[in-house]
Amino acid sequence: MYSPSVVASSTDSSNNDNRLFVYEVVGLSQNGNTDKINYPLRRSGNLFITVPYGRMNQEMRRIARLGGKIVSIKPLNGEIPLQMTATSQPTQQASKEIEKGKSMTQAQVKAKDDVPVNIYRPSNPYLGKCVENYSLVREGGQGIVQHLTFDISGGDLRYVEGQSIGIIPPGTDDKGKPHKLRLYSIASTRHGDKLDDKTVSLCVRQLEYEHPETKETVYGVCSTYLCHLEVGADVAITGPVGKEMLLPKDEDATIIMLATGTGIAPFRAFLWRMFKEQHEDYKFKGLAWLIFGVPYTGNILYKQELEELAETYKDHFRLTYAISREQKNAEGGRMYIQHRVAEHSAELWDLIQKPNTHTYMCGLKGMEDGIDAALSAQAAASGTDWATYQKQLKKDHRWHVETY
Ligand code: FAD
Repeated sequence: MYSPSVVASSTDSSNNDNRLFVYEVVGLSQNGNTDKINYPLRRSGNLFITVPYGRMNQEMRRIARLGGKIVSIKPLNGEIPLQMTATSQPTQQASKEIEKGKSMTQAQVKAKDDVPVNIYRPSNPYLGKCVENYSLVREGGQGIVQHLTFDISGGDLRYVEGQSIGIIPPGTDDKGKPHKLRLYSIASTRHGDKLDDKTVSLCVRQLEYEHPETKETVYGVCSTYLCHLEVGADVAITGPVGKEMLLPKDEDATIIMLATGTGIAPFRAFLWRMFKEQHEDYKFKGLAWLIFGVPYTGNILYKQELEELAETYKDHFRLTYAISREQKNAEGGRMYIQHRVAEHSAELWDLIQKPNTHTYMCGLKGMEDGIDAALSAQAAASGTDWATYQKQLKKDHRWHVETY
């Protein structure tokens, strides 16, 4: 199945030349971290570090670990400075671009383009088969939320963690036209729940609401179709789509995940990739922190597996719940995700400022404002304007939002 290019490493046998590159680094203090690094060139607070080609990856990680940020890379005798962030890892493709003297930003965009998109379009969807459809809501929980798995072995559908697929429900809308596709975040890793590269899984909540005028209960078309889909039934799939929620290749990254309800889907894929699967090219050693908002304990989707992971990987995975109808916030009101973020805002703010931290938000549209407010207050306490800071995080591809 799909396998993105692996990061270059010092053992990369394809590059045994002696070329040198100069990293321009900021954020390493004069008498603190730099002593540990022990690099010679220094000018106006910035460090200029000469790195052999074969050690580029390791040095990037080391600099990031010490809190530094790489602002440019250039060949020792070259002309063109290469702009980049400290979290970036040079992929084989990127490394080739460096050799050619192209900008690292260009190389990164190219690497992103390796992500598969729109293999199947609505005019010609892939017909998958439902092989699993089970409830994720336990006793005391509200609504219907299902975990669905589709067999995709008969085609060319492939995807990576953080992407979505489209589902076209059968039948026609009230104008007699075929239903349009609905997007769903993929809840499995690229290898699928059975690790055989032959399936894709979703986590779907049946939309149910009271019609504002007629007061009748209305059920969503596609979510109802999926939640009640029989095992063995065919389903029309499009995509994959989406590059907003991709997981960085950096194994030492800090990954903050803020989820409400089915917003857990991409994070299940992340966590399964980090901790449940074994890969040659990705061995997660950083910190993953999931803050998960649900109404009742019975609505904690994938509860048992999440708690097992948190127990087994104590040093690398932290799990925090906000259970709105059962827990109280500091003011005695319902405990929503933004209250948990506010409670942990000092720690979160420290983490967010690290150059290799990525923050992801997925789920209900309404969750963004409260979270912004909580982080804004914390940032302001250290004299930082959150809106400006967040803009930069977005530019650096370290702030990822998918709400619906
Ligand atoms: P529809 O029949 O299309 O009805 C939806 C319409 O009902 C709305 O457009 C609105 O007009 C109306 N409506 C809804 N609520 C109310 C209300 N309270 N009062 C009045 N009118 C209302 N969903 C998941 O369950 N899991 C996922 O992982 C997931 N991932 C997504 C990822 C992305 C990128 C996006 C964009 C959406 C995602 N969704 C996910 C949502 C999903 O795409 C559908 O929107 C959802 O399932 C509803 O579709 P439906 O066909 O059931 O509802």
